Amino acid sequence: MSRGWQGLVLRALGAKEHLITLVSKRFFTDHYVRLEFEAPTLFSDVEPRPAAWLRLWFPDPAGGRRQYQRGYTIAEADPEAGRLIMEFVLHEPAGPASAWALGTEAGDQLIAQSLGSVPFQAHAESDRLVLLADLAAVPAVNAVLRELPAERDVVLLLEQAHADDAGVPLTEHPRLRVHRFDREGPATMARQLAEQVPDLDGAQVWAAGESGSLKGIRKAASGRAGGSKANTHIQAYWIAGRAMGTARD
Ligand SMILES: Cc1cc2nc3c(=O)[nH]c(=O)nc-3n(C[C@H](O)[C@H](O)[C@H](O)COP(=O)(O)OP(=O)(O)OC[C@H]3O[C@@H](n4cnc5c(N)ncnc54)[C@H](O)[C@@H]3O)c2cc1C
Repeated sequence: MSRGWQGLVLRALGAKEHLITLVSKRFFTDHYVRLEFEAPTLFSDVEPRPAAWLRLWFPDPAGGRRQYQRGYTIAEADPEAGRLIMEFVLHEPAGPASAWALGTEAGDQLIAQSLGSVPFQAHAESDRLVLLADLAAVPAVNAVLRELPAERDVVLLLEQAHADDAGVPLTEHPRLRVHRFDREGPATMARQLAEQVPDLDGAQVWAAGESGSLKGIRKAASGRAGGSKANTHIQAYWIAGRAMGTARD
């Protein structure tokens, strides 16, 4: 889909364009970087609720005129100061977004839009929260854990791709159990879920990660007692071997 066409659609749907400017950059590991941006107009339009995300337009790494749209989570925000933090996985092969995040310097700018973002909401009738994620979803998981009521039981199954993934900080929560595992392939996450949480009945399920990994999670979540649209959120954040998102010329 061309960006010209898609840009028109986003605008017609009310997705305003906001210029954001990089102010600081900090590597947590070789594969994960935190970027802080100045965003003077964004919060007139966007509410930074937990796991809310933006559509960002990245330049062509080859220097061409194309721009590439990718989704990134608002990791933290200070709407009054017009500041936000986003955190990027630096993966191989790189795509336009991860290449930009690796090479960017203070003063660099991006265009951000918001459309289709579904923020996390703790489901009062569920007895616990089961989070399934990989590194790309850690910014969302951390935002969710910051907002989660202290008395809510929560399990985080965290898929790892690099030996240094544990260097990425996780939000503390008094009732959080974290189980880390290495990704062997698309079936790993569902296998870990079956082993670690054999009974999903009554749980709220929030999952984000590689598209293929989530197929088994969808299946497991759809069969649980008490499952509903309101307490189930499963979203592909990336696709193994394929670029995500759209482009515009
Ligand atoms: C709602 C939403 C929120 C998201 N929030 C974040 C976020 O906060 N932080 C973040 O880092 N990502 C986040 N993502 C994921 C990010 O948009 C994708 O990883 C995207 O594909 C990266 O774009 P790219 O241009 O770097 O790579 P692409 O051009 O899309 O892909 C190039 C290659 O890299 C591979 N690839 C892409 N992503 C990954 C990955 N994470 N790990 C390993 N290989 C990968 C692809 O399979 C492909 O082979 C989010 C996605 C969505 C939909």
